[in-house]
Amino acid sequence: GSVVGILGGGQLGRMLAMAAAKLGYKAHIFEPGAAPAADVAADWTQASYDDLDALKRFAEACDVITFEFENIPAEALDVIAATTPLFPDRRALETSQDRLIEKAFLRDLGLRTAPYAPVNGDIHDVLATTGTPAILKTRRFGYDGKGQARVMDPTDAESALDALQGAPAIAEGFVDFSMEISVIAARGQDGSVAAFDPGENVHHDGILDTTTVPAQISAALKTDAVLMASQILNALDYVGVLGVELFVTPQGLIVNEVAPRVHNSGHWTQAGCAVDQFEQHIRAVTGWPLGDGSRHANVTMENLIGDAIDRAPALAAEAGVQIHLYGKSETRPGRKMGHINRVTGPA
Ligand code: ATP
Ligand code: MG
Ligand code: MG
Repeated sequence: GSVVGILGGGQLGRMLAMAAAKLGYKAHIFEPGAAPAADVAADWTQASYDDLDALKRFAEACDVITFEFENIPAEALDVIAATTPLFPDRRALETSQDRLIEKAFLRDLGLRTAPYAPVNGDIHDVLATTGTPAILKTRRFGYDGKGQARVMDPTDAESALDALQGAPAIAEGFVDFSMEISVIAARGQDGSVAAFDPGENVHHDGILDTTTVPAQISAALKTDAVLMASQILNALDYVGVLGVELFVTPQGLIVNEVAPRVHNSGHWTQAGCAVDQFEQHIRAVTGWPLGDGSRHANVTMENLIGDAIDRAPALAAEAGVQIHLYGKSETRPGRKMGHINRVTGPA
């Protein structure tokens, strides 16, 4: 087919649409709100996920559909998948859009997670399972650290619960990690897998700030990280790019969460790899051979959050710096406005 439908019109949708164009496809965006992807896509449907007629017309206009955003309601997926192939599929999406289902899935695969429990009944019983400090997280819709409340001590429990305003939630024991890393990996329609090198992630105020490759970890941990991502891809019979966030601890790697899509911590691939994560995803969902994931440069990706976008012209003057701006009309504190990739040397 020649039209790639993308659910979600944010910066990830925008960069997917640009990658689709590079491979000769037209992108069609579905997005209820303002859409930075709209001006680079061939077509844009602005409608709510409740508008099933609009979804059906969108699906009929596309040859394959993918997404940049995992919070798509189940009924919307039914309408889409009945008409047009959807990659990754509904199971991958449903496994990763709910933290409780995601954690159980990871445990079933034999992968380690933080101790966790659903927030049901007496919060002090819940905290007895996880220990304190703990983090309460809404089961769905959280991103950039939103929908989370820390419980440093059991006496904080009630105020942390209040902060979640009754949303279904899980509690997680606090992991004492030495580093956060992520693996971005892809699986093709033929079952082949290609992983990018693990990157080291630094967060500020719950938002990703920088990703650096190579992560300063042992070869053994690097292998573990790639094996874990491959295991997740195979178990879900996954097609497309997936991001796996991991904590490095003295006992080995602990999985934090899985994103069934291209991932902010994979933006470095734009400067570090012949085939970046966006092209890799479009290749996977349209049935092209995958790029091999090998890295030719060491790179640090830096997010431009809020007013940091004002630094873009000065950064552009630096050698080895690639600028990516998302075309968002309004700058707000905490909003991802763009990123840079700084090449720090050959791999
Ligand atoms: P993202 O924007 O990556 O989707 P998110 O809102 O889904 O973020 P998490 O990744 O679960 O949130 O948490 C954000 C950050 O909070 C993590 O990258 C990590 O730094 C910290 N964090 C989350 N869970 C734990 C934990 N159990 N123990 C220690 N730190 C944690
Ligand atoms: Mg997340
Ligand atoms: Mg995260």
